[in-house]
Amino acid sequence: MPSTTYDAIIIGAGHNGLVTAAYLARAGYKVLVLERREIIGGCCITEEVWPGFKVSTAAYVNSLLRPEIIRDLELKKYGFEMIPRSPSSFTPFPDGRYLMMGPDRALTLREIAKFSKKDADAYPKYEEMLTRVADFLEPLLTQTPPDPFGGLGSLWKIGQLGWAFRKLGRTVAADAVEILTGAAWPILDRWFESQELKATIATDAVIGAFAPPSHPGTGYVLFHHVMGECNGVRGVWGYVRGGMGMISHSIAEAARSKGAEIRTNAEVGRILVRDGRVSGVALRDGTEFSATRVASCADAHVTFLKLLEPKELPPEFVTQIQKIDYSSATVKINVALDRPPNWKALPSDGKVGPQHHGTMHICPDLDYIERAYDDAKYGRWAQNPMLECTMATALDDSLAPPGKHILSMFIQYAPYHLKGTSWEVEKDKFADRCFDIMEEYAPGFKSSVLHRMVIPPPDMERLWGITGGNIMHGAMNLHSMFSFRPALGYANYRTPIKGLYLCGAAAHPGGGVMGACGLNAAREILKDR
Ligand SMILES: Cc1cc2nc3c(=O)[nH]c(=O)nc-3n(C[C@H](O)[C@H](O)[C@H](O)COP(=O)(O)OP(=O)(O)OC[C@H]3O[C@@H](n4cnc5c(N)ncnc54)[C@H](O)[C@@H]3O)c2cc1C
Repeated sequence: MPSTTYDAIIIGAGHNGLVTAAYLARAGYKVLVLERREIIGGCCITEEVWPGFKVSTAAYVNSLLRPEIIRDLELKKYGFEMIPRSPSSFTPFPDGRYLMMGPDRALTLREIAKFSKKDADAYPKYEEMLTRVADFLEPLLTQTPPDPFGGLGSLWKIGQLGWAFRKLGRTVAADAVEILTGAAWPILDRWFESQELKATIATDAVIGAFAPPSHPGTGYVLFHHVMGECNGVRGVWGYVRGGMGMISHSIAEAARSKGAEIRTNAEVGRILVRDGRVSGVALRDGTEFSATRVASCADAHVTFLKLLEPKELPPEFVTQIQKIDYSSATVKINVALDRPPNWKALPSDGKVGPQHHGTMHICPDLDYIERAYDDAKYGRWAQNPMLECTMATALDDSLAPPGKHILSMFIQYAPYHLKGTSWEVEKDKFADRCFDIMEEYAPGFKSSVLHRMVIPPPDMERLWGITGGNIMHGAMNLHSMFSFRPALGYANYRTPIKGLYLCGAAAHPGGGVMGACGLNAAREILKDR
């Protein structure tokens, strides 16, 4: 018999699960969050990996977290604080030049003009186009997608969407469709001529995706990364003081302040179902908790194919879940440094400079990204991978001992399945290759490394419970978005089992530290009151 009864149980204390918990607790529900790990936050965490070094081991920058969540849950009261980055991007090139960008418009245009005057003229128009498309798409993030095969309510919603789309006008509407469905490369090619600018922008089009910029769908990934804000400024990414874990911590505190209970080291082994209705959950150790509502922040594969018996779900639904693309080709390397990288293109003599404030890209041109992808496509890690580095310690002195730094390296492409070998064998070789590349661009880098932590896709899966190591809980292709996420007919956070909901990135609007999945799920759960 279940030992304890709740109004709602949340499986997984990812930031989305915590958002759902906080909104339900605010509405007066008795809420229990069960997290398998010893810490909360899922992929949005900060851990003291080495004494004195507080590392955001998975997610490392924020922009997407919805402003309404920050406001409603009073996250600033619980310690959430954004640190804007200026400049926000630095790309050194093998010929000794560099490109610095954002958010200062004058600096960005001056820098782009170093490579192409024409591109500097085009850039404001490109940004304006993105802003107009964002004005159309952004409101959809916090809406429940309609079911094209649903009733009148759904059709009404689809009609409203069509109307908003018409208001874009023919030109912007065509741009919007291309961004949603097309490849980043041709889009960038039409706007710009400089390889340096295109490669820098293209990093956002492929980040977290097992796809190169020439693949359809990367236009949307590019766009997904410009839809957020930092302290009210759109498209700007920032650090979170104290590390990304402070996002999860502040949401958890908001939830606890309304009475939510959060238990760690509590892995759910089964979702309990009686007569087609959820009745609670059982932990791996057999402890049972009962509730008439259960929301899962685990991904769709874990929720439906591991925590339930196939016979409890309609076969056509199981088939749709089995089709989700969990391929991944990203590796995270967290590094403790004795000093900041001394970039050959802009030396700083062991001191922190503006080149260290934002994201530092090693990605000289679009061909470089494509070749890196080609290696991974055939089951090898890229010999010349794209490196995206951030050093939050440049702007946040709470993370490392004085004078020391943490470098977060997010690297593509390196597939989950390696042909003829394993990550056990290859992990250190891959990290060594990445450090060799860093050494070419920033001499002395290797001797500045104090510690390193290498996390290839299978380790991401093991550590964070994300199938295939896919950081978005499933690819963000158009056929897996909006009304199709996680499966057509089930994009409204409900599932074939009454009382069972999805509240994590497996649902609309997908991956990233956005909180929107958790917010939307809470709204739907409260509607079913
Ligand atoms: C390496 C990496 C870098 C990233 N970088 C960024 C970035 O810089 N910015 C950004 O916006 N996004 C980034 N992302 C993506 C983003 O972090 C995720 O998409 C997002 O955090 C997912 O949040 P979630 O709450 O939906 O799920 P998750 O964070 O995956 O949380 C799910 C939780 O459920 C728990 N769980 C699973 N199964 C069970 C079970 N059976 N019982 C109990 N608990 C269970 C897991 O342990 C986990 O805590 C990154 C992700 C990774 C992995």
